[in-house]
Amino acid sequence: MCGLLLGGESHIAQVVPSRNVASDTRRRFEIDPLTLLAAHRAARTGATPVIGHYHSHPAGIARPSPRDAEDAAPDGSIWLIVAGMEVTAWRAVEAGTVEGRFTPLSLHVVD
Ligand SMILES: [Zn+2]
Repeated sequence: MCGLLLGGESHIAQVVPSRNVASDTRRRFEIDPLTLLAAHRAARTGATPVIGHYHSHPAGIARPSPRDAEDAAPDGSIWLIVAGMEVTAWRAVEAGTVEGRFTPLSLHVVD
C-alpha cells in the first residue's frame, strides 16, 4: 500500500492512493509516476500541493528502513509509515537522526 500526501507546511489534508509499481512490492514501494504527475499538475492549477507520501511495512515496524533511507531524497518531504495499527511520520532531511536520513515528526489527528 502506498500513495501521496497532500497538504500544507505541517498538515496532511488528503491522501491519494497509488498503485505500487515497484518490481518487488514486498520489499519496496514506488508511487505510480502517472499518479504523481497528475497530482503535481493539479497543484500547479490550484489543487492542494504534494507534501509527501505514505507506504506500509506489511511485515515490519513503523520506522524507516535502511532501504527507505537509500531511496529518500533529503527534500524535506513527509514520510508516513504504516505497520499494523501503528502510523508514524518522518521528514526526509540531509542529516537525520534515523537511518541518517529521517527526523521523527509528531502526528496529531484533528477533525
Ligand atoms: Zn519503508
